[in-house]
Amino acid sequence: MSAPILAVVTIAGNVPDRGSLEALSLARGIAAGTDAPLEAVLVADGPTARSAVASLAGSGLKTAIVVEHPLLTGDHPDGWAAAVAQVIEDRGPGAVVGVGTERGNELMARVAARMGLPMAANCLAVEPGERYRLTRQRWAGSLLEDCWLDAPVRLMTVAPNSVAIGEPDGSPAPDVATIAVTLDDRDLALHVTSRDAPERGRISLTDAKVVIGGGRGVGSAEGFADLEELAGLLGGAVGGSRVVTSAGWRPHADQIGQTGLRIAPDIYIACGISGAIQHVVGSKAAKHILAINTDPEAPIMGVADYAVIGDLHVVVPAISAEIRRRRAAAS
Ligand SMILES: Cc1cc2nc3c(=O)[nH]c(=O)nc-3n(C[C@H](O)[C@H](O)[C@H](O)COP(=O)(O)OP(=O)(O)OC[C@H]3O[C@@H](n4cnc5c(N)ncnc54)[C@H](O)[C@@H]3O)c2cc1C
Repeated sequence: MSAPILAVVTIAGNVPDRGSLEALSLARGIAAGTDAPLEAVLVADGPTARSAVASLAGSGLKTAIVVEHPLLTGDHPDGWAAAVAQVIEDRGPGAVVGVGTERGNELMARVAARMGLPMAANCLAVEPGERYRLTRQRWAGSLLEDCWLDAPVRLMTVAPNSVAIGEPDGSPAPDVATIAVTLDDRDLALHVTSRDAPERGRISLTDAKVVIGGGRGVGSAEGFADLEELAGLLGGAVGGSRVVTSAGWRPHADQIGQTGLRIAPDIYIACGISGAIQHVVGSKAAKHILAINTDPEAPIMGVADYAVIGDLHVVVPAISAEIRRRRAAAS
């Protein structure tokens, strides 16, 4: 049998996060194409990793690797790079697929640097073989690159929100293999000391099924109240263009686009956003786009499925009012 294919799976709240499911899907395809067993190294402290193993049933995984070290928690980037490198040496995989988030790319880049291997980020498709042929996103997704990856161990990450998450295949929860790793003080020197907890109940932009985006046309930080109201009614999240984050109307973490977040909602409602390419690359995975803009010639119209030409401060409250009216009529 061929060398195993290894996915890097980050555990959030005792289950794999979305990016990890994408990495698992890509890795599963490679494993199927090479007749290789699929394995995963779980990025979480030992007890958390063990408690997440049952949730990996149906993902085609043969083995879940739990890393043991008394000081290693999910918050040590260098520690995890050292740990994943040691797992690679122990298991001898032909390829390793990591998560395409900033942290996931950082982890794989550190693994690559430690092992003296090349690493390909933002992969969409992989044809395994003697040489691996990859299709990957470049320039924030505005072009696709076909390339070869030649290495004894092929390290890659998956482009976020771009690979379909595979359906459960009926496979049982994987076997657990525990690997004790050796870390030195330098591996643990860099670690996360605190986090800003998201507001309770707030839906993250990358997971939201409905995203309301605001641009310069919103006019002010206060102008976002109309968008927040609509998001509240639809169970969605509010984001914005770089203009609004640069102006301080919204935090930088809410920026959608090339230098912000990639979103993949069922519907993206872009309000007062012109549709610059740097914005659109962050929202093109949306299933549908509704543009609300005073300018019928705005570039966003070229990518929108639906459009309302008008002042967003009239149109958005009117949509909210209509939703309320219909809900009241239905109850
Ligand atoms: C390297 C680089 C990286 C970048 N990264 C990003 C990024 O990650 N994300 C990003 O968003 N941008 C990014 N940008 C900036 C990008 O090029 C645009 O400048 C920005 O997206 C424009 O924001 P906007 O659409 O809000 O503003 P504008 O382009 O000024 O558009 C405002 C729109 O609002 C409409 N409007 C005005 N008033 C109303 C109203 N009352 N009702 C309805 N519509 C109204 C106007 O018709 C117009 O279409 C980047 C640029 C560079 C060079």
